[in-house]
Amino acid sequence: MSRYRLTNARLLRPEPKNDPSPQDLWIEDREIVAIVPSIQTFTDAPPIKLDLDGDWLSLGGMDLQINGALGLAFPEVTIDSGEKIIEINQFLWTQGVDAYCPTILTAAVSQIQTALAGFDTFKSQSNPRPNQATIAGIHLEGPFLNPAKRGAHPKEHILPLTIDNLKRVLGDYANLVKIITLAPEMAAETGAIEYLKSLGITVSLGHSLATAQQANHAFTSGATLVTHAFNAMPSLHHRTPGLLGSAIVNPNVTCGFIADGQHIAPLMIDILLRASDYDRGLFLVSDALSPLGLPDGHYPWDSRTIEVTHGTARLPDGTLSGTTLGLLVGVQNLMNWGLCDLEQAIAMATITPRIAIQADSNINTAQGRLLRWSKSQPGTWQQIIL
Ligand SMILES: [Zn+2]
Repeated sequence: MSRYRLTNARLLRPEPKNDPSPQDLWIEDREIVAIVPSIQTFTDAPPIKLDLDGDWLSLGGMDLQINGALGLAFPEVTIDSGEKIIEINQFLWTQGVDAYCPTILTAAVSQIQTALAGFDTFKSQSNPRPNQATIAGIHLEGPFLNPAKRGAHPKEHILPLTIDNLKRVLGDYANLVKIITLAPEMAAETGAIEYLKSLGITVSLGHSLATAQQANHAFTSGATLVTHAFNAMPSLHHRTPGLLGSAIVNPNVTCGFIADGQHIAPLMIDILLRASDYDRGLFLVSDALSPLGLPDGHYPWDSRTIEVTHGTARLPDGTLSGTTLGLLVGVQNLMNWGLCDLEQAIAMATITPRIAIQADSNINTAQGRLLRWSKSQPGTWQQIIL
């Protein structure tokens, strides 16, 4: 039996929240069996293996919005994609990501069904493996979006929000879907959000022109998230606060955002951070596209082509369609821009996304590794293998 302790670590955990007092982690057979204050002495304490010298330790990241990686776009998954998904899971792990929600963009219902069947087959055939990110559930971004705010989503596959259409899109895979992004003003009847909630699916508002009143109504009906705040929705306006204004002041709503420096100007992120309870109200997403992990260049994207330059992907008409930067690059950017403390930035990539989908965010749920965040180079991290 291997038994040791990591000493002088500051722990990112939901409770007590971002407690800066140094802690010791007792590890037995790769599992955290005790967390005790470093100043306390114990006669049965295991030997010290590593002194963290006050660095923060966290779980790996959780990415709730990622469209693909290593050349595979998740809407193009089929029952034969298993090996590629394993490759992606290994790759994301090396990027510091423990778990993610593969995001399926607006597509024909038959294509969404094929992709869901592919992930379902993968899930039923593969056992969780060490050193691989796991799939926390699918994020359906669409097809219930406002065509006027569709961004890069193909118009012809956008559907009105009805329970019948939801049933068509979900098919037999409702329990595989974790999040649906929808525009609440596209509801052709009442009850869609309540229906999704009854299935255990988290509702995120986005690609929307909802007024503050429409957004409030959706939040009251059970929507709890906002998809890439600021993008594909009206910006904050002093006379028309809209979806975003309504979301920021609602303590039950958590906004995802992209910190690549292209989707939102750092100054606007500063406003978002100052206006929100960052460790409950905001989480980072990558919104990364399928060339994630591949070099800059031209890549196919549904029936179109995107050009990736310095990690930013655009359609030929210049429409921003995503990034190829990983989730934890966002932490580094927030530090480079001097917008928040390191522990706040780490929390937005590791704790808040877990809370947003009711996943366990406790540090002793670590699956074989933790991330150690450098004090001297804020935003850089290394793995600590348990
Ligand atoms: Zn989007």
